[in-house]
Amino acid sequence: MTRPVYLDYNATTPVAPEVAEAIHPFLNESFGNPSSSHVFGQNAKEAVLQSRREVAALINAAPDEIVFTGCATEANNLALLGVAAKAPVGQRHLVVSAVEHPAVMQPALHLQRCGWDLSIVPVDARGRVSPSAVAMALRPDTALVSIMHANNEVGTIQPVTEIAALTRPRNILLHTDAAQSAGKIEVDVDAFGVDLLTLAGHKFYATKGIGALYVRAGTPIGGIIFGADQEHGLRAGTENVPAIVGLGAAARLARERLPEATAHLRSMRDHLHTRLAEAIPGLVLNGDPDERLPNTLHVSFPGVTGRELLHDASTDVAASVGSACHSEHDAVSGVLAAMGFDSVRASGAVRLSVGWMTTDDDTARAASGLIAAWRRLVAQ
Ligand code: PLP
Repeated sequence: MTRPVYLDYNATTPVAPEVAEAIHPFLNESFGNPSSSHVFGQNAKEAVLQSRREVAALINAAPDEIVFTGCATEANNLALLGVAAKAPVGQRHLVVSAVEHPAVMQPALHLQRCGWDLSIVPVDARGRVSPSAVAMALRPDTALVSIMHANNEVGTIQPVTEIAALTRPRNILLHTDAAQSAGKIEVDVDAFGVDLLTLAGHKFYATKGIGALYVRAGTPIGGIIFGADQEHGLRAGTENVPAIVGLGAAARLARERLPEATAHLRSMRDHLHTRLAEAIPGLVLNGDPDERLPNTLHVSFPGVTGRELLHDASTDVAASVGSACHSEHDAVSGVLAAMGFDSVRASGAVRLSVGWMTTDDDTARAASGLIAAWRRLVAQ
């Protein structure tokens, strides 16, 4: 049986063949512990260093500013809780947006339970945070602002550079969760002006179980996992060398392919959108039409729920009604609620996310499958 077309690249990506090839020797031949002084250890140490250089190059950072973590969730936790650990007395106010992934929202709420003040900045109907809303939330005791670079559900890209122009002169640290944007669009820590930035390996063709936090040199931050002194003392535990090597290889590929990949993603996404919009009157695009990830098509179908549509079309398409992390629940997604959607538009929503491997044939088959399923359901 042919598998359905995979249109859930925002949930996770396959491992690129080049990445798998790079990892392979580190599973058996080059298995040393980077902390060992013999040749096995030193080979592993050099491989980790090389990956640090590749990951740094992808985001225009210095290698020493990269901290490898177990996932993007951990990187976000390290950013928020690690900054909180070093925040001076009297600086216990944190600002996040209403559309953050739970990997930022939950540590933020945890800090609130620990006595921090938390401000949650709203978004507009396209899911954009306005810099003026951030400016209004800033206070003399604000230690950190965390606003994601691109949203995992609707793909809206946030004005991070404009937000940095507000936080920098006030000496407020700025973190951005770039788990969804790295490898899809340009991510440049200096152009953005951020102090901390999160990456997720499995969103750009590395393996699951690896992430990284960029920490600008001089940023006051403490570790949240205590043990030996790996990763500048910020992330104790023997390094996951194969996954780190994979992240480095994926970062190199992403950097080399970026302009071509961005164009390919945009063309596949728009091809899919055009086909659906031509056949389905009343289909609405969600998120910002322009300031949006090139691979993400979040649309509401009229007269059906996204869940029943995907179920009916499941032999042709594998996609998601929201973010994979919460899609088994039927509650309106927090992101769509923050964008002010009514329950009808929210429940008709489907997230279709394309990837490097998506072809014209894939988008044609997926569109036909979705259109046929929609027609069957509205005819009932
Ligand atoms: N941040 C964003 C924006 C995400 O989309 C995700 C995953 O969907 C994460 C963080 C968490 O990634 P992980 O589950 O790999 O830790």
